[in-house]
Amino acid sequence: MKTLLPTSTAGSLPKPSWIAEPEKLWSEWKLTGDDLLQAKRDALLVSLQEQIQASIDIVSDGEQTRQHFVTTFIEHLEGVDFTKREIVRIRNRYDASVPSVVGAVHRRKPVFVEDAKFLRAHTDRPIKWALPGPMTMIDTLYDGHYKSREKLAWEFATILNQEAKELEAAGVDIIQLDEPAFNVFFNEVNDWGVAALERAIEGLKCETAIHICYGYGIKANTDWKKTLGSEWRQYEESFPKLQKSNIDIISLECQNSRVPMDLIELVRGKKVMVGAIDVATNEIETPEQVADTLRRALQFADADKLYPSTNCGMTPLSRQVARGKLQALSSGAEIVRQEILATK
Ligand SMILES: [Zn+2]
Repeated sequence: MKTLLPTSTAGSLPKPSWIAEPEKLWSEWKLTGDDLLQAKRDALLVSLQEQIQASIDIVSDGEQTRQHFVTTFIEHLEGVDFTKREIVRIRNRYDASVPSVVGAVHRRKPVFVEDAKFLRAHTDRPIKWALPGPMTMIDTLYDGHYKSREKLAWEFATILNQEAKELEAAGVDIIQLDEPAFNVFFNEVNDWGVAALERAIEGLKCETAIHICYGYGIKANTDWKKTLGSEWRQYEESFPKLQKSNIDIISLECQNSRVPMDLIELVRGKKVMVGAIDVATNEIETPEQVADTLRRALQFADADKLYPSTNCGMTPLSRQVARGKLQALSSGAEIVRQEILATK
């Protein structure tokens, strides 16, 4: 990336109210059939335009074509029965009714590749595409077939690798895997989680990122955060292993979080996507607040390896708030960019 401190978002952006109920996670589509397909494309263009308007450097589809960051991908796969549901505990935090794995999982056809081509055709900026990570995928399912979290994760990693290679061929510059589960299942991260992640990115020439966060600003997550104490050291468990992995960029949540900044030291040499926008509040950060977070991160990361971003996805926020936050992110990054250039 030639731009100094290139800005991006960690994940989703709000959907327009004509396609789905706004300010709500996982809200239902308001349209069906061809109308929905067209509306998803329109929403993608609106989301792209809002990112460009806010001078975001690395743009995305704003996840406009998916209802859920994990299940929408799984819906396109064979081997999972969405009518056969079981209650399971997600990330050891909340119970949810989830679909069941009933046979061997595989990908019938590409899931997001046409959307990525569409985005590519509409912008010259670098584009980042998010996919769910293998461990987070298995954690949203009941597995009645493999009966092994590791085995199922490995199968998903193979499928993700097929999808990632086609996204790369479609012109995606950065492929991001979302692994909030890495902040929960530390033993699994070290036993097979990082290996499954590397399987998912095997052979890619484009840049790769892993997004590990403390989740959307939903109650189950904010309640969980209250139990984590004065310092959130979860990244300490996964970072040493990720530092040795093939992944290029590691994202962490820093705005209004209790993550000690010095944990960035653990991934020295990697690029870090630093969350400088809190997605769990409607309060819009000032550019100076963003700049302050980035300055603190710069104590532990080289300037050419710092990617300012949001803590997580912004889909539950209003479009107005999200727009303000995007603007604050780029204005804050610009303040620090000028400071760095002035000292050169
Ligand atoms: Zn996230």
